[in-house]
Amino acid sequence: MRKGIAVSPGVAIGTAYCLDQIFVDPHSKRLEDGEVTAELARYEKARDKAATDLVALQKKVAAQVGRNEAAIFTVHESILRDSAFTKKVRRWIVDDRIPAQAALHRFLEEYSSLFTQTKDEYLRERLNDVRDVIVRISQHLTEVLHPEQTSLAGPLIVVADELLPSQAVALGKVDVHGIVTQAGSQTSHAAIIARSRGIPAISGVHGILNQVKTGDTIVVDGRSGHVIVNPEPESLSAFRKLEREFFLLQDKLAENRDQPAVTSDAIRLELNANINNLADAESAVAMGADGVGLYRTEYLYLTHPDVPDEEEQLKVYEQIVLASPGHSVTIRTLDIGGDKTVAYLGRDQREANPFMGWRSVRLSFEHPHLFMTQIRAIMRAAALAEELGGEVRILFPMITTLEEMRRVRGIVRRAEKRLVEEGKPYGKTPVGLMLEVPAAAVSIDTLLEVVDFVSIGSNDLVQYLMAADRDNPRVSHLCQPLAPPVLTVLSQVVRACRREKIPVTICGEMAGQPRAFVLLLGMGLTRFSMSPAFIPSIKDLAAHLTQRQAAAILREAMEFKTTVRVQRFMAEQLLEIAPNLSLLDSD
Ligand code: PEP
Ligand code: MG
Repeated sequence: MRKGIAVSPGVAIGTAYCLDQIFVDPHSKRLEDGEVTAELARYEKARDKAATDLVALQKKVAAQVGRNEAAIFTVHESILRDSAFTKKVRRWIVDDRIPAQAALHRFLEEYSSLFTQTKDEYLRERLNDVRDVIVRISQHLTEVLHPEQTSLAGPLIVVADELLPSQAVALGKVDVHGIVTQAGSQTSHAAIIARSRGIPAISGVHGILNQVKTGDTIVVDGRSGHVIVNPEPESLSAFRKLEREFFLLQDKLAENRDQPAVTSDAIRLELNANINNLADAESAVAMGADGVGLYRTEYLYLTHPDVPDEEEQLKVYEQIVLASPGHSVTIRTLDIGGDKTVAYLGRDQREANPFMGWRSVRLSFEHPHLFMTQIRAIMRAAALAEELGGEVRILFPMITTLEEMRRVRGIVRRAEKRLVEEGKPYGKTPVGLMLEVPAAAVSIDTLLEVVDFVSIGSNDLVQYLMAADRDNPRVSHLCQPLAPPVLTVLSQVVRACRREKIPVTICGEMAGQPRAFVLLLGMGLTRFSMSPAFIPSIKDLAAHLTQRQAAAILREAMEFKTTVRVQRFMAEQLLEIAPNLSLLDSD
């Protein structure tokens, strides 16, 4: 049994499918003279197969998800055809007489060590993509296929170091019941994907790839963060029972899809969805979301080979609006930098402290044309939303000072003026501040004078308040949304917004966590935005609670001086309020 960080709740059992490994036989010998030609041919064949995969994937993803999401596979194809890469691998096979698999491994090692030193931002940022391409060729060499082609029977548990972007997309078509990763934490890519699909996941399990092989039976306990490899029969049957209960619970909860979210004292709540693309927008509707509370537009840029122009962006935003007709859609401007970088934005982004550096709106300010383009596209999409009886709201991330907020308002005004001059239709877009920097929380009263709404980005707010990187499993014990100082700051912000009658919502991951939700409701929040998969369970939880009861629980929770005590208290409370949801609770 191994323990990691529970990042998506539930229990799953399945066959391990190990991704992202390049198996190099340590005993592999140099090729004999007579073997070189055959090895080269074997390599070329694997490469051709990988190229065919990429073309097929590109088409499939374009049709099923969107053209922008599919663009990543075109990038991969160009890496695959890159002459420097091809020549090197061939040369190593022919001149150095090393097997193809080892040559690929050598290329990856060389590239990885180089990428930290090179000044070429583009090369550096393509490391993940290069790795993805190499793994794909390598899997054809060893005839272990990519998951979309796997013939492994039954539900799969994907085990990986971290989930590569193309793997995450490809997993869409495979019967994946759980995800376990060595790297990552609550807010890593794998965690967000798992939550958006409602499957249990555990991150930060060091060395798990050395202990599991494809074909093993694995149990993922997303409540406690335990991974059990080849369990004993008694333990397996106990987990099978839990897994059945988890499925039944999910089905049962999904029945409330068309019901409004209300507390047991009839307070209407707004449960919106956090989305990254059109497919998420569609699953949000299926889960009964009231609207879109956070559209993270950086995924549009991350999967696009260059800067998407105004018309392209408009089309994407309109598709999202069409998926939620008559509802409110909050579009966040580009939040790039930190852990997410885009090759075509600046060449000097490498920084010692990227989360505290040139990130988000700070970067947008220095790319005025890009910023204006995005704001105009959002405002133009608002015209369609209004026509359909809904609205588009625009949200600015990482706002730190009043000057910044005034500056974005100025840009929105200029965008509006130009749209009027050009006679282009646009809609009224309320302007929101994403509250995720402690300085903004401290000066909330001043900031409220210049905003139409506030959305609390607790993922970042918690990491900045606790000075603990949200993606680093070693400090995850500190990066906790239920830490007493976090609860104090959140209550102050919510109180200030309510006093000034400025609409306030929370869109960090904690909104969808049962323990945290109760406390947030107790603070007086009525608008929430979360991964679509959590909406049914939070709706059910709300129906078991009055707001007054939640406020009393909050008061009691805030008496505790340590995170562990708050956690324990909330776990007990949850068992009392909604024992049926305990499978969806996690430590
Ligand atoms: C947040 O910081 O809470 C948030 C919702 O945004 P992101 O996770 O994209 O930084
Ligand atoms: Mg954030």
